[in-house]
Amino acid sequence: MSKQVKVLDHGHVHFIGSMATDLDVVNAARVSLNSSSTWEVETEVIGEGAGVGLDFRNHNVLSDRDKGLIKFLMRERHGTPFEHGYFKFRVKAPLFVFREWHRHRVGHSYNEWSARYSKLEPEFYVPDKVLVQAGKPGAYTFLDAGQEKTNICRNYLLASYRESYATYEFLLDQGISKQQARLALPVATYSEMIWSCNPRSLMHFLSLRDSEHAQHEIREYAKVIAEIFSSIMPVTYEAFVSNGHKAP
Ligand SMILES: Cc1cc2nc3c(=O)[nH]c(=O)nc-3n(C[C@H](O)[C@H](O)[C@H](O)COP(=O)(O)OP(=O)(O)OC[C@H]3O[C@@H](n4cnc5c(N)ncnc54)[C@H](O)[C@@H]3O)c2cc1C
Repeated sequence: MSKQVKVLDHGHVHFIGSMATDLDVVNAARVSLNSSSTWEVETEVIGEGAGVGLDFRNHNVLSDRDKGLIKFLMRERHGTPFEHGYFKFRVKAPLFVFREWHRHRVGHSYNEWSARYSKLEPEFYVPDKVLVQAGKPGAYTFLDAGQEKTNICRNYLLASYRESYATYEFLLDQGISKQQARLALPVATYSEMIWSCNPRSLMHFLSLRDSEHAQHEIREYAKVIAEIFSSIMPVTYEAFVSNGHKAP
């Protein structure tokens, strides 16, 4: 069964699947010496024949030597062994979040819902938490806007989204092409994409987006992705975190 996690007000991360393990990293490195490792499998005899309640959860354990190798590769920035793997997600997020996401070019593949070919839904992001900013570019401090400003911001955004979507529908009704009618829509409009990447590029994404410097909204997605990644490649994730959250 594939898994979906809700993010922001209408978005989600849907984990489609992966072909990636810590052992793949180890063996990509060990091929340098024409050797390889195998899992230390914890075997438990649970019964005989069919109907004993088979459980195929991953009970495999990496040896200490293999764990040490992953830490070494991370620390010394031997990055290529982390490229032999694949993660695939379906993501629903506002356009401004995708705009940040799609800046990640190396080792990432994207396909996105086309507003040239189909009509977008009236789904728009409205922040729960509204911020004011102080300071100068590159060194802003963001502070809670307080209840009054939060209400004003949310109400004005909602009114503007309603107006934009009404314009969009009006233009479509006039026979204007979808690719031009969409010009009326704001960057808060939700879209969907299929995103895949390898573990190295995923860590690079996390280093920049699961970060206090990233915008809150993309970070909410990055936090979910970090959790999925850490459950599939726990040793790699731990080495990444203890290496200062830096990709090799
Ligand atoms: C907090 C924050 C603020 C940002 N603000 C802005 C902004 O104001 N304006 C803006 O335009 N962008 C901004 N960005 C986007 C940023 O500049 C990057 O485009 C984005 O983070 C992707 O990073 P990347 O290029 O390292 O990733 P990828 O594109 O995945 O590249 C991965 C790595 O490959 C190498 N690489 C890729 N392409 C090249 C190349 N052409 N030449 C040499 N090496 C290459 C680099 O080592 C790079 O780190 C911001 C990002 C963050 C996280």
